[in-house]
Amino acid sequence: MKVPFVDLTSQLASIRPEVDRAVAEVLDRGAFVLGPGVAEFEEQFAPATGRRHAIGVNSGTSALHLALLAAGVGPGDEVVTTPHTWISTTWAISYVGATPVFADVDPVTGNLDPAAVEAVLTDRTRAILPVDLYGHPAPLVELERLAADRGVALVEDAAQSHLATLDGRPAGSFGTLGCFSFYPGKNLGAVGEGGAVVTDDDELAARVRRLRDHAQDGRHHHVEVGYNYRMEGLQGAVLTVKLRHLQEWTDERRRAAARYAELLADVEQVTLPGVAEGVAPAWHLYPVRVADRDTVAQKLAEAGIATGVHYPTPVHLQPAYEHLGHGPGSFPNAEQYAATCLSLPMFPELTAEQQEHVATQLRSAVGG
Ligand SMILES: *Cc1c(COP(=O)(O)O)cnc(C)c1O
Repeated sequence: MKVPFVDLTSQLASIRPEVDRAVAEVLDRGAFVLGPGVAEFEEQFAPATGRRHAIGVNSGTSALHLALLAAGVGPGDEVVTTPHTWISTTWAISYVGATPVFADVDPVTGNLDPAAVEAVLTDRTRAILPVDLYGHPAPLVELERLAADRGVALVEDAAQSHLATLDGRPAGSFGTLGCFSFYPGKNLGAVGEGGAVVTDDDELAARVRRLRDHAQDGRHHHVEVGYNYRMEGLQGAVLTVKLRHLQEWTDERRRAAARYAELLADVEQVTLPGVAEGVAPAWHLYPVRVADRDTVAQKLAEAGIATGVHYPTPVHLQPAYEHLGHGPGSFPNAEQYAATCLSLPMFPELTAEQQEHVATQLRSAVGG
């Protein structure tokens, strides 16, 4: 039996008539960049994140860049973040000329450890940038309190956590601004690139809205250095259709996660993803941890099961960040995750049979 890692085409097939209508409307209207398709999506996405404003942009990376600019982060500032993430989180800090300061992660969830964050705050800290990794919200209540106490911004990287909740609050609703990605493989995926910044603050929203469109506050009047980070009309239209199904797809992911937990509960050699109290993850990924990870992945591949590694090299050990002077051992929990994490197939259409095959093969691969 073949088990793909994700299955984007079958999801699209299940809503194809709706998508075709939305695409045709964009083509008929000719509004290819921003326009009504994007405006409608923004109106519907904002409340899904518990926010008053959503601003559609051309990627999650751009969303992070604009959020940090709006939060007033610039050269000479420090931004505290996690080394165990997709590299874009750190790129955004570099784009605004600030310095990434890493704090180690919690061994159970792989998310930032608030005590480690507190230990690296300095007078130069301007923002804290946690990531809701794997779709599991970071300890955002603690981090929000820490940011408020120190008078710094909290910017939430919610690129993997659409519709996840913490104490009943949706991902993206914590701190000053939240950032989403709609890269095709994300829980809410465009048919190309896309992202959004969400916030409750009217002025920050207006600034992000200007910055994404060459910082124009009227036609041909540019109030600061701006960017071409606009969302395409086609992406807005397709995302509006998909947003209608997102809760149902998230429920399916939660069912699949519960099923993995049940099937693998007694396999000692496999550490299941931890879930913190009060959290309902969006299960963007289902990362287990195993010793000798690459061999296990190889055995699963031979049994027709695709897996992923998120992420094999922590950011502090990437050549791009060599100048920060970290080395192996700098952030042991993040490095432990990088060495042992293995993402099992996880998507809403995953069947019970496929999951049973994954569990059986994983059990045998680890000798359980
Ligand atoms: C996907 C992702 C991003 C970047 O989003 P793009 O749309 O690919 O630019 C940022 N942070 C995290 C944690 C992500 O997973």
